[in-house]
Amino acid sequence: MQRYFISAKQFGDSDIRVTGEDAYHAVRVMRTKPGDKFIVSDGESRTALVAVREATPMQITADIIQMLPHASEPAWSVTIAQSLPKGDKMELVIQKGTEIGAYSFIPYESERMVVQYDAKKEAKRIERWTKIAKEAAEQSHRSRIPEIEQVHSWRELLVLISSYDLVLFCYEREGDAAHGKGIRSAVREWMDGSGERESIAAPAVLLIVGPEGGFTEREASEAEAAGAVLVGLGKRILRTETAGIVGLTCLLYESGEMGGA
Ligand code: SAH
Repeated sequence: MQRYFISAKQFGDSDIRVTGEDAYHAVRVMRTKPGDKFIVSDGESRTALVAVREATPMQITADIIQMLPHASEPAWSVTIAQSLPKGDKMELVIQKGTEIGAYSFIPYESERMVVQYDAKKEAKRIERWTKIAKEAAEQSHRSRIPEIEQVHSWRELLVLISSYDLVLFCYEREGDAAHGKGIRSAVREWMDGSGERESIAAPAVLLIVGPEGGFTEREASEAEAAGAVLVGLGKRILRTETAGIVGLTCLLYESGEMGGA
């Protein structure tokens, strides 16, 4: 069934409105007409099954038939902190990360980053990334659109570490299973150490991924000193845009999110 995200103010008590590009797309491309049903979400707390009352390319009005639970959202909120990659790789990370179930994305600057960060272009890029997250969330039937944060400096990212329940720093030098720690052992150690704390059921996890040039030793030790756990993702060196997607998948697998018992 088709899904649309609408703003909270378009979400009434008994009916909803779809406007802008989405209304145009629904009417002109999907041929939506009165009586048709679709699902809307305000991207935060409310999702509903609705039936169209009136449909024009400018605006669709639809009656709420039933409020729906947020069944498609993972219990674990995993944020991918991605050092700004080259070209349009960030788009891939956001699109695939959203499909898999990422909670939000934090682009950040690091020492061995290959791209030249251009603050002037930033607003436009974040706007584009937000659109990609919205489209991927609709396509993958999420009820929440992952947030795309502003570009953080390395220092700003370090400060954030203490506000998460668990922070995993993907370090290529930990990749060798013989001496490095993997995601599974990092998660289990954290759980064992957390005792009965409530955060165990729905933890906020930060997954930090380095740039094409990798991390410096200093960055690794600063992250560790701030509370991050250094983890490897296997013996192979993954590209920066692959590492976050793989790390996220492993984490959600460990949380029991990826289907099956
Ligand atoms: N240029 C570096 C590799 C960088 S890979 C080198 O040749 O060593 C880009 C980022 O992906 C890394 O900083 C790390 O965060 C992540 N990554 C890639 N492979 C990884 C692995 N096997 N284990 C942990 N992290 C990995």
